[in-house]
Amino acid sequence: MKKRLTLWHTNDIHSHLEKWPRIFNFLKEKRTAANKENKSALFFDIGDFLDRVHPLTEGTNGLANTDLLNQLPYDAVTFGNNEGTTLAHEDLENLYEHATFPVVCCNFYADKERIKQPDWVKSIVYKEIDQVKIAIIGATAPFREYYEEMGWGIEEPISSIQKQVAGLEEGTDLVILLSHLGLPSDERIALEIPEIDVILGGHTHHLLETGKVEGNALLAAAGRWGEYIGKVDIELDEKNQILSKTAMTFKTEDLPAAPNEAREIQGFFDKGRAELSEKVVAIPGKLAHNWFDDSEIAQILNAAVCEWTGAETFVMNAGIFMTDFEAGIVTDFDIHQMLPHPLNAIALTMSGEELEILIDGIYRKKAELQDIPLRGFGFRGEYFGTVLMDRADFDLEKQVALFDNKPIDKTREYRIATHDTFVFAPFFPIVKQIKRKEVYTPELLRDILKWKLKKMYGQEEDK
Ligand SMILES: [Zn+2]
Repeated sequence: MKKRLTLWHTNDIHSHLEKWPRIFNFLKEKRTAANKENKSALFFDIGDFLDRVHPLTEGTNGLANTDLLNQLPYDAVTFGNNEGTTLAHEDLENLYEHATFPVVCCNFYADKERIKQPDWVKSIVYKEIDQVKIAIIGATAPFREYYEEMGWGIEEPISSIQKQVAGLEEGTDLVILLSHLGLPSDERIALEIPEIDVILGGHTHHLLETGKVEGNALLAAAGRWGEYIGKVDIELDEKNQILSKTAMTFKTEDLPAAPNEAREIQGFFDKGRAELSEKVVAIPGKLAHNWFDDSEIAQILNAAVCEWTGAETFVMNAGIFMTDFEAGIVTDFDIHQMLPHPLNAIALTMSGEELEILIDGIYRKKAELQDIPLRGFGFRGEYFGTVLMDRADFDLEKQVALFDNKPIDKTREYRIATHDTFVFAPFFPIVKQIKRKEVYTPELLRDILKWKLKKMYGQEEDK
């Protein structure tokens, strides 16, 4: 008789909890049905399940997200860069403390030297269902500068996965990779490591509606933001030889509504707001945002980041400011709503020539960039907005970049701060080329703004 195994998978939900009740309802039904009918089914999440853009995630340091995963429960998860690089060391250390599932990731270490793994991570786990022995390996994207800055270690995933495959236990019938590495890496892994049967992917937010066969492996992935749920069906013969592998996806929007879902979704938000209700400062006047021009709040953030990083100026897009601060009390929630992005300050040390190229690029491109409805690269806003760079200018007549109204001094180095979007988005290639980068973690831009607001307005409280 043929054996059948179903894998259900989610990836890159990014705390889109407005989709969660429906996803949960659907998967819970599948889980219950599988138990009742004695069918083999496994449930996996492939990372970036949490995103600090949601107040509930922010207010609980991600613990509320782990609770949601527990409720199904999932059988195993790997984590993405949102879990791994946007949470402080201690918060990641605690994230899975009460998890009822194993966290699988073979290329992540508790130390820069990569000697030992944290005790909450497993490189590989085995499951035996219906006498089929299944190896589950996980891997996450190697954001080395970020992980090492926070005291973690990260290894190039392909060699880590190869080691796991070389050490597979005897009698393993099926090898599944939970990959938060992105589609190009998954395709390469499929060709280089033929022992892997199925790669459940994520990170690049790719949707493979009916999967993709590459070499020996079936690749499957469910897009982004909880818009889809993935399913892989595997048939094996009595000797556990794979007969077929197929993939399909379900659109969350088309699934039946979950009971009370609107109330539940509102509840996630309200609970997050309550967690963030602490007062930070009281400000004397309104600070309004402007996506297409300089603003007082942008100047405050510029000063804050320069002070924090020792940089001469801070290059940012005005689209990062999402709301205004009204005069009066500003809470953690208000700061989160204004700057919801998991963005870090990054200091770049560059030559005068490189600064010239950067300023030149900004002044040539900013008009076309400002209306781009940007998604990703750490940015959680709507439009990129204009580029703000205090002290920099461009002489249109002479076509020359200026700093403090003077031509760039080619004989000295400049320390210029920016944030992740400028490093990862392809708009200014020069930024990617600059070798000397210091990522400031774990504080996000909003933490640096909060620190500055307290310095500016906190004192008056005590008077
Ligand atoms: Zn990711």
